[in-house]
Amino acid sequence: MSYPIEQIRKDFPILSREVYGKPLVYLDNAATTQKPLCVLDAMRQEYLNVNANVHRGVHYLSQQATDLHEAARERVRQFVNADKIEEIVFTRGTTEAINLVASSFCESQMQPGDEVLVTDMEHHSNIVPWQLQAQRRGIVVKHLPISDDGLLRLDEIDDFMTKRTKIVSIAHVSNVLGTVNPVAAIIRKAHEHGIPVLVDGAQGAPHKTIDVKQLDCDFYAFSGHKMYGPTGIGVLYGKEEWLDRLPPYQGGGEMIDKVSWERTTFEHLPFKFEAGTPDYVATHGLATAIDYLCSVGLDNVEAHEQELTRYCMEQLQTIEGIHIYGPRLNGNGNVNGKDAVVSFNVGTIHHLDMGTLLDRLGIAVRTGHHCAQPLMDRLGISGTVRASFAMYNTKDEVDTLVAGIRRVSQMFS
Ligand code: PMP
Repeated sequence: MSYPIEQIRKDFPILSREVYGKPLVYLDNAATTQKPLCVLDAMRQEYLNVNANVHRGVHYLSQQATDLHEAARERVRQFVNADKIEEIVFTRGTTEAINLVASSFCESQMQPGDEVLVTDMEHHSNIVPWQLQAQRRGIVVKHLPISDDGLLRLDEIDDFMTKRTKIVSIAHVSNVLGTVNPVAAIIRKAHEHGIPVLVDGAQGAPHKTIDVKQLDCDFYAFSGHKMYGPTGIGVLYGKEEWLDRLPPYQGGGEMIDKVSWERTTFEHLPFKFEAGTPDYVATHGLATAIDYLCSVGLDNVEAHEQELTRYCMEQLQTIEGIHIYGPRLNGNGNVNGKDAVVSFNVGTIHHLDMGTLLDRLGIAVRTGHHCAQPLMDRLGISGTVRASFAMYNTKDEVDTLVAGIRRVSQMFS
């Protein structure tokens, strides 16, 4: 069966709107994806017909809302192929998931001078939470370097995994370079030294089948809004043995077993990590987005996005003065280890100028440092223009982008 692109585009009505009188070409998917009608309908229906706070209520609506919320957790469990539902913690997003681990892990498992190993291509949300712990608890943040092609320097990893390394925290896919990191190999290596690994899957989960058992990662974090779900909801998968060992992150309702002035005990997993009223409508929305993504098939989506990425790289290479960051096309014209994200600059044109002028042509790209300033420093630039793809993008849109870049370039020549 051919890829149902026309039907998919119909499912996202926003894609047929215009900006500045031009058809919208939305290529800012690494920042956030658009939402299909089924997700919007599911959330609207829940607010219209079911809305009630979850877990605590004896009444009908509360139980119905709780059933939907817990069914969403089960859907996420299946999606990442976790063993147990207790291993699925709902958070506000990837950022909160990483903050949770950084805070609870450092508090309970690390001493001053112990090290966390991240990489030179991390998003700020996998840098700053560890830096906060460095300031508060004296841990040390080390970062594995990258090559000029935007690949991790795995040849140096032995020097960076020391006796004091207590956790490794790495991006599955770079939000700037599109590099797909060899996380399974890194996890195997870390485990040989007894070191747990957190994978920042913000740019992984929307594009590829995630199997946490096969990866054998200890934690995997991702955001709903980058995979066609609503904003404000994300997931932390954690192996039960690790989540059990970590203290709660935040305190409040929902996460307690018994509270008294003398002593408070906590709920069992995963509720120990879910203080306060959860965004139970968003969890239902996320589950609906997962259903939608799976109905098209992650393998099909991945193949479609890979072809768009390859085509985009091939076309961009024909533009004079362009510099594309991260993995390149190989001799056979294939993209190796690059996923749905293409970052570039053209000659001396400032990325902000390029982005602003592309916007006037209806093309939404992102410009700047993409929340990865240490990576920009490594590349010796202040920012890039970034086009990023989702399941609904087309080759025609890539053509529009390339024609737009040519037009802007001519204006500066
Ligand atoms: N990590 C990576 C690699 C990302 O691309 C992003 C979002 N740009 C995040 C973490 C943070 O995700 P969120 O803002 O949804 O928490």
